[in-house]
Amino acid sequence: MRILVTGGAGFIGSHLIDRLMMEGHEIICLDNFYTGNKRNVLKWVGHPYFELVRHDITDPIRLEVDQIYHLACPASPIHYQYNPVKTIKTNVMGTLHMLGLAKRVKARFLLASTSEVYGDPDMHPQSEEYWGNVNPIGIRSCYDEGKRVAETLAFDYHRQNDVEIRVVRIFNTYGPRMLENDGRVVSNFIVQALQGIPITVYGDGSQTRSFCYVSDLVDGFIRLMNSPHTGPINLGNPDEYTILQLAQTIQQMINPDVDIRFELLPQDDPRRRKPDITKARKLLDWEPTIPLLEGLQHTIEDFRSRLLSSNTVAPNDRVSPV
Ligand code: NAD
Ligand code: UDP
Repeated sequence: MRILVTGGAGFIGSHLIDRLMMEGHEIICLDNFYTGNKRNVLKWVGHPYFELVRHDITDPIRLEVDQIYHLACPASPIHYQYNPVKTIKTNVMGTLHMLGLAKRVKARFLLASTSEVYGDPDMHPQSEEYWGNVNPIGIRSCYDEGKRVAETLAFDYHRQNDVEIRVVRIFNTYGPRMLENDGRVVSNFIVQALQGIPITVYGDGSQTRSFCYVSDLVDGFIRLMNSPHTGPINLGNPDEYTILQLAQTIQQMINPDVDIRFELLPQDDPRRRKPDITKARKLLDWEPTIPLLEGLQHTIEDFRSRLLSSNTVAPNDRVSPV
């Protein structure tokens, strides 16, 4: 099959491309390199089944493909809040263009949505039936509401134009190739501990998240794409940790002497998050297989080798496009 991966040079997109290339598909990786990097797909450049296209999805594009995995959108709060209007454009106009393309060439379309559509949830754990508790005018809204509109567009193209859609709601996912200065919690804590600087816990660290290792997520993506189910379907690891527990775990794994420093909690930071994955278990026969400690070990090794081989920047140093 010929498969388009938007956001393919990013963290999750590049792992997905690795899997799809190994399965023998022809891949078009489309990216504007805002938070993605050619380095992530460099090993495929020159392969006859691989094409890398620099393109911004807020502009339309014509391609002939059988499937579209639509991931293009900055995922880390510091990056999606750097230019919030652009984030909305990417989610709304970009998704519109990709759905238009899917309609024209009759491609199956998978949207990488997010647990952020549940906002700061009143329901715990979050199941797909929950409609969410989202602030429409806060600093996270460009992303949360953008993804909610992207889901609406997907379902409207499905109902109105028979586009075959698949919608996955991704819960916090981590692994090798996250940006060193990406601002997300796992990358921040690992880089800080490796550099011997204090681990920055926002608030008192009692807020929770559930962390899924990237290879598990990619497996779920491929299962959903090739299943008969539209979703929305939650993919994530239901093991729930407080942010303080995560900080202490990474501190113990890397450097027990490093301090933990408490900083101001950002606005609208969700208090609890944990996926109900009953649907994924039942419909896709999917569940995560990599426990947190093992996934963290792989991620730490990747960061350690990258930090050793480059002039490192501290987390949060860079918030502009790369
Ligand atoms: P990422 O920032 O590494 O990847 C996003 C990619 O999209 C980057 O390569 C970026 O350059 C590209 N991109 C951004 N705007 C673009 C545009 N206008 N045109 C073309 N390309 C553009 O993030 P990620 O963690 O790999 O996330 C991938 C997808 O998964 C995103 O849609 C994100 O919302 C979703 N998601 C991720 C998580 C997570 O925990 N990693 C959680 C929920 C949802
Ligand atoms: N967080 C933190 N220290 C950091 C980065 C993040 O305590 O250096 C917290 C953040 O406030 C949130 C959680 O970790 O409660 C997850 O943050 P992230 O940005 O990774 O993802 P999201 O909030 O989108 O789930």
